[in-house]
Amino acid sequence: MIPVEVRSVSLRGELRSDEPLARHTSWGVGGPARSFYRPADAADLAAFLSQLDPNEPLLWLGLGSNLLVSDTGFAGTVIQTQGCLTGLERAGDQGVRAEAGVSCAKVARFAARLGLAGAEFLAGIPGTMGGALAMNAGAHGGETWDWVHRVHTIDRRGKIRERLPDAFDIGYRHVEIPRGEWFLDAELQLTPGDDKACLERIREVLERRGRTQPIGLPSCGSVFRNPPGDHAARLIEAAGLKGLRIGGAQVSEKHANFIINTGAATASDMARLIERVQTEVERRSGIRLIREVRRVGD
Ligand SMILES: Cc1cc2nc3c(=O)[nH]c(=O)nc-3n(C[C@H](O)[C@H](O)[C@H](O)COP(=O)(O)OP(=O)(O)OC[C@H]3O[C@@H](n4cnc5c(N)ncnc54)[C@H](O)[C@@H]3O)c2cc1C
Repeated sequence: MIPVEVRSVSLRGELRSDEPLARHTSWGVGGPARSFYRPADAADLAAFLSQLDPNEPLLWLGLGSNLLVSDTGFAGTVIQTQGCLTGLERAGDQGVRAEAGVSCAKVARFAARLGLAGAEFLAGIPGTMGGALAMNAGAHGGETWDWVHRVHTIDRRGKIRERLPDAFDIGYRHVEIPRGEWFLDAELQLTPGDDKACLERIREVLERRGRTQPIGLPSCGSVFRNPPGDHAARLIEAAGLKGLRIGGAQVSEKHANFIINTGAATASDMARLIERVQTEVERRSGIRLIREVRRVGD
């Protein structure tokens, strides 16, 4: 890491300019971030935030597995957690504490090896703990916030707070976070279980994904939320949109709620295909699909 000094605060992280965000999103698209900070740890992040212009636009980035960053990029500062906030430890008899940048897969395996059950569903979600908290990521009947005991947040002045789940409005792939705060870590409270059974469940989760999803191709997972009582994939398939292509973006043949980058897609291709799917599904079924993927930039 290159030490940086900004407005006479000594920082231990790494500050980059014009960092291409295509390198940091699972779709592999997106223009540059004006500034891009990789904190050395939580204290360093607090110091970095405390000296930032209060009007600087901020974007928190985990593994970029749910982000569509525009081709023009992000005119502000990106805070990268992945590879930076990496603490992972046991917390009491049934708890696991994970910092925001730890991958969900690592949390799932760590808990399973301790014989703590409940977090196995996280094994198939290719994001970070911070992203899972922000999205209330879920799969196979489990959701992140089912297991959260407490979190720490940080605000844009670098102030750290402990918060309990009742401080958040939590729903399906939706979490309302107190304005101007982001997740630093979470403590999950899990259920005593058997390590071998938990690891076997992880194997099953991954095997099922391999069968039903275009794993290995650049995607953002499910592009749309499931409407109440139905599945976005079913509606997209029923509208005859499987395989539909705009530029390098294509509705997956394997799972219709996935859009894949076939090689040289731009963010604009992705955005146009998303809108086209929304329009066609609404025309055929009367249902307006709501995006799960978050857009950044114009
Ligand atoms: C192949 C594939 C399969 C997937 N399967 C699933 C699935 O089964 N279930 C599911 O729910 N999702 C799934 N996803 C989507 C995605 O993995 C999840 O939404 C994941 O939680 C995003 O985590 P991330 O670290 O990549 O977040 P990012 O994409 O980096 O960010 C997503 C959002 O969270 C915010 N954010 C990130 N970190 C923080 C933080 N520390 N504090 C506050 N906000 C933060 C970002 O600003 C952004 O708004 C899948 C994606 C892919 C590519």
